[in-house]
Amino acid sequence: MTLAETPNHTNSSNPLLTLNYESALESLGSDYYDEVTAAEFPQHILRWRNNALLPRLGLDPQLVKDEDFITAFGKFQGRKPLLALRYHGYQFGEYNSRLGDGRGFLYGQVRGTDGELYDFGTKGSGTTPYSRGGDGMLTLKGGVREVLAAEALHRLGVRTSRCLSMIETGLGLWRGDEPSPTRSSVMIRMSKSHIRFGTFERLHYLKRPDLTKKLLDHVIETYYQHLNSEHDSEHDKYALFYAELVKRVAELVAQWMAAGFCHAVLNTDNMSITGESFDYGPYAFIPTYDLSFTAAYFDYYKRYCYSQQPGICKLNLELLQEPLKAVIDIDDLQSGLSKFAEYYLAEYRNLMLKKLGFEDGQFAEADELLQLTITFLQDSQIGYHQFFSDMARTFDSKWRDEPAFVMNTSEIVPALGASAIFDNWCVLYHQILNHFDPNQMDIIAQTLAKYNPQTALLRPVIESIWEPIAQEDNWQPFYDLVQQFQ
Ligand code: AMP
Ligand code: MG
Repeated sequence: MTLAETPNHTNSSNPLLTLNYESALESLGSDYYDEVTAAEFPQHILRWRNNALLPRLGLDPQLVKDEDFITAFGKFQGRKPLLALRYHGYQFGEYNSRLGDGRGFLYGQVRGTDGELYDFGTKGSGTTPYSRGGDGMLTLKGGVREVLAAEALHRLGVRTSRCLSMIETGLGLWRGDEPSPTRSSVMIRMSKSHIRFGTFERLHYLKRPDLTKKLLDHVIETYYQHLNSEHDSEHDKYALFYAELVKRVAELVAQWMAAGFCHAVLNTDNMSITGESFDYGPYAFIPTYDLSFTAAYFDYYKRYCYSQQPGICKLNLELLQEPLKAVIDIDDLQSGLSKFAEYYLAEYRNLMLKKLGFEDGQFAEADELLQLTITFLQDSQIGYHQFFSDMARTFDSKWRDEPAFVMNTSEIVPALGASAIFDNWCVLYHQILNHFDPNQMDIIAQTLAKYNPQTALLRPVIESIWEPIAQEDNWQPFYDLVQQFQ
């Protein structure tokens, strides 16, 4: 083979380039995006490839080489067009009409073996018309943090985007919140869609109801396809879409709350029209059940603190009504949104009871247990994740025999007699266990283990992963942790 032939040969045998890419978004026309080119990087070191996602793309991980990832997702060879998506959004309550993909683009769309269409979106791939003076880049630590967040949330059952790859790119970046110069990366995020609430808000701002309708039809056709067969008139299809979006978002925020996750930047440009969680910047998992816990240091007024998340998501859904009014009846929008609290509370209750060991919350004391658990977690300020992981780790069928045995080998809970709330909690938990047969204790142990991983992605954990990378380029702790989540 001659040297001149090498690139072509590489591309045609690269399974990531020969995937059956679909042009769903591209075919909507150029009102929704700008064609861009990717940055060229001085270096490409593959730091993360998500083998767990490859079978969903119909690929055998063994047949995809590291070099294939670098060619496709670091050098961006062989794929065109690369589309920077246009959007606006409410950022911390203020409308911003200067947004859009400022450091990423839609690399391609691929149908998974599950029949769903997935976006490959980049983060850190260079400047676009929407970079607003930014460098278009992603720090390596930012990439590491997003990979970890997505995998941890996935493990916790949150409907989330995940990172397909992360490549270190050899640049020195300057950031106010990292010791600089800091290392750089480019990431591929695999998500249900990168169409945001803000994508619709931009069309309303531009007074283009025609483009709103076209995009909405595309969204329903692509991501809410089942509605096509469930409705009996055009009008119904749109009403059903919004009602389902409300449900998906309410359930998503309930998943975050149960997971003890604080997204940190719930601007409308970070809200997916598919109701999937994505874009992990300054996020944090709550150390304790602290309602005012705020993850982003620049969120001075605690707008997006832990306890505000359900209300903010509801507000964002309400703001979305403005553009959707061009197509959907206002009464339908209002009646759709009116179900938010009901959906949220049902999902939150359901998930918290699972964390407490009960797949099925059909017992009389379920709500009392939930309330008492939260009162205890809030009053004691004991570690939120540690409480549940200790329950899972120390669970013993003996807990069914005596209230005093409940969690008695855990070192983090109060000793018997030290906390009236916790003593009551033990009495109640013991009482509930007695509704079940002794031979059902195994199922409770399994449920506890399933919903409460032993490692939580708390900030000190992330730092303990980052330190060895920063100090000695040791990635093993990172791989070990991700492995635990997969
Ligand atoms: P985010 O807070 O990550 O959701 O980003 C908000 C907006 O800022 C989006 O339009 C991003 O594309 C843009 N942005 C964030 N960081 C950069 C950067 N380093 N360079 C260019 N644009 C950026
Ligand atoms: Mg964003």
